Amino acid sequence: MALNGQKVLVLNRAYVATNIIGWQRAIMLVLLEKAELVSEHPELDIPTIRRRYPLPSVIRLLIYSGFPRFTPRFTRRNVYLRDEYTCQYCGVRYDAGRLNLDHVIPLSRKGMTGWKNVVCSCLSCNLKKRNRLPHEVGMKLVREPRAPGNYMLYRLRGMQVPEDWGDFVYWGKPARVPAR
Ligand SMILES: [Zn+2]
Repeated sequence: MALNGQKVLVLNRAYVATNIIGWQRAIMLVLLEKAELVSEHPELDIPTIRRRYPLPSVIRLLIYSGFPRFTPRFTRRNVYLRDEYTCQYCGVRYDAGRLNLDHVIPLSRKGMTGWKNVVCSCLSCNLKKRNRLPHEVGMKLVREPRAPGNYMLYRLRGMQVPEDWGDFVYWGKPARVPAR
């Protein structure tokens, strides 16, 4: 397994997943005492001259500010990922090729283009809805669209979540504070 490209999960002081950064930056934050090591990579070390240095896997920030909260970019792919490639009207999962983006409140009615008004829709639901509101055509959203939270970081970046990140990034599961 290569050291290059290894990612580190960053938690804020309250153990809430805040970002994903490269390992080099994570090391700097730990060395500068701006963050502490919560979990190290199970297999990899950073080669140094004098001693073994663990590769961080999860770090926790000790500083309050200076680290922006990660907001996933609003892109077509990220909307598909947020909605798990599932049409938000009929609830059926499709390949990307059979999906489209739908403005819940249509653009023609001043609907915004953003996380809260755009959902994944299959082509036939898209065609059925056109530029109307869901209730006008007897449709209902599977779930209310919103900006994805930190727990979706891994999915939105198409990453395999390392085992020790699980406590911090899964749906609806409260962060576990590790015993010290
Ligand atoms: Zn559909």
